[in-house]
Amino acid sequence: MIEEIAGLFAGPGAAAYLGEPVTIGVHMRQAGMLAERAGAADPLVAAALLHDVGHLLGVGDVPHSDVGATWLARWFGPDVTEPVRLHVAAKRYLCATEPGYTSLLSEESARTLEVQGGPMTRAEAAGFAAGRYAAGALAVRRWDEAAKDPAVVPPAFGHFVTMLERLAARSRRGPRGGIAR
Ligand code: FE
Repeated sequence: MIEEIAGLFAGPGAAAYLGEPVTIGVHMRQAGMLAERAGAADPLVAAALLHDVGHLLGVGDVPHSDVGATWLARWFGPDVTEPVRLHVAAKRYLCATEPGYTSLLSEESARTLEVQGGPMTRAEAAGFAAGRYAAGALAVRRWDEAAKDPAVVPPAFGHFVTMLERLAARSRRGPRGGIAR
């Protein structure tokens, strides 16, 4: 697992992040760092660190949030995969419910918002907020937005390895890790 994920950070992660001032790998590691500094629980730190892994897998038209979550489900439980799956929905939610949130988006993120369906309707937002993983997804989303600072050097991927191994081991052991797929 670690080899596969580390390989993505080292390979495609080193590529420019379309329209952003940092590489995708730096962006993801900044998000993981921000989650850690906020005192988030390990699954949420992992979700922040890995939220854009779908971009690194480079698969066509399927939304990167779904691709990433499905890929990560090989090793992690829903407390990691679901905030990843929902981080695009969380952007659509925040744009619909928080005045001014849209102005926090980078130019590229504002552009993709339209492709992703635009701000949620009132009914969509209510459905989203009622979901079990909404809070985690919203937290990941805020770190996502803040993790595009070219002046910030985040920890190397290796910094997160022990935590990821612990989470994967817990998920393998069974239901306490939450294998509800
Ligand atoms: Fe992101």
